[in-house]
Amino acid sequence: MCTALTLPVVGASAANLLFENVTLIDGTGTAPIVGASVLVKNDRIDLVSPVPLKHEAGVQVIDGTGKFLMPGLIDSHVHIGANAVTEDEFQNQRLMGVRALHSFLYLGVTSVYDSGNVPDYIFSLRAEEQGGKLVSPRLFATGTTINVYGGRGGGRIRPEGTPNSPIRLKEDWAESKPLLENYFKTRKPDLQKMVIDRRGVFEPPTPIMSVEQMTSVVRLANENGIRTTIHAASEEDYSDALAAGVDEFAHVIRYPASDELLKLLAAKKIPMSTTTVVAKFIERLIDDPSFLDEPVWKNSVDPDVLAYQKSDERPAFAKTGRSLTVKATHHFLMNNVKKLHELGGVLVAGTDRGWGQTLHWELELLHGAGIPLLDITRMVTLNGAIYLGREKDLGSIQRGKLADLLLNADPTKDVKNFAAIAAVYKGGQKIDFAKLDIPINKKK
Ligand SMILES: [Zn+2]
Repeated sequence: MCTALTLPVVGASAANLLFENVTLIDGTGTAPIVGASVLVKNDRIDLVSPVPLKHEAGVQVIDGTGKFLMPGLIDSHVHIGANAVTEDEFQNQRLMGVRALHSFLYLGVTSVYDSGNVPDYIFSLRAEEQGGKLVSPRLFATGTTINVYGGRGGGRIRPEGTPNSPIRLKEDWAESKPLLENYFKTRKPDLQKMVIDRRGVFEPPTPIMSVEQMTSVVRLANENGIRTTIHAASEEDYSDALAAGVDEFAHVIRYPASDELLKLLAAKKIPMSTTTVVAKFIERLIDDPSFLDEPVWKNSVDPDVLAYQKSDERPAFAKTGRSLTVKATHHFLMNNVKKLHELGGVLVAGTDRGWGQTLHWELELLHGAGIPLLDITRMVTLNGAIYLGREKDLGSIQRGKLADLLLNADPTKDVKNFAAIAAVYKGGQKIDFAKLDIPINKKK
């Protein structure tokens, strides 16, 4: 359904590379291969070999002794810049967006999916990235989300008519259809997000899309070559979304869920973005924001953004009682993650945040839930590509795929090793960390 990616990277054509004597973790979840070789020609993987390959002229050899080669990481749920600024400032935050994108590259993330943002803002960044004008992870986006009038969920509630407010469906599908069709054709979202969030578990119920409305959206999106994902909250929301044929879920259910629902989600192999870290982030931000002073945060995230988290986001979250809500539901979420994994569900690492470091925190939480590290290597690579419908081109180290690669220490031994990064490649081109617009480069 999706056309092949032909996304250039910044700079000259990529070199031909031969990674030698690496331990290969190919992203499919199969056991690592010691002493492997991977040949990259231009932007794609040309050959994967369990034994050494002959050196060819014009191929740069990279000695991977003691290192692990895996696909670049994929964060399946981010909001670039969306947590850094107020609504008024939003349109002028290109610079903050670029810095956020650089924080992902710095931490080994070569693809992100923005799960809701100002369309003009995020699609112009996407155009720059795809046009090779911006050093950035591959940027996939929905732009706006789809909801009904009075519907909640999917982040901050913005007033009607503001750039980031969702597309509101009318009662009559005939009225909504042209609006959506125009959006799909002009904006070309990579994966269209909807929102169904009736709450009613801990909060009063709110209006939601009907199954008929959701079915119509899914059908229209699919007809336009676009898959759909959805923010759902309660068991009823998930059941409605399943009935409507939604392709993916933007979160794992964070409320009590029946075994029947979890079994169904797993059996249907519907990719679900895990997003366990967002609750932990909010909880820690309210309880003790000093974690933002740790070196990895200070080195990779703009100081104004960190200050904003403490001065504005923290009291805003505190006022809504979010800390209590997330604490009350977190064990349901982690329990659901664990059960879905045991049932063979397709879990996809995602954060619902906007910086590279949160993805590593997400991986720690998944491991803490009892998921083996080798399984996590797949959740944060190939499953991410499947979530985006881009698995033909991304997500694993296999012949013909784009050479988005991460050279690091053994991620199957220690979850922290995902971030023990020696080098990052996008489309066969090494990312020059010294040129990234991140705080660590300003100290020098
Ligand atoms: Zn989100």
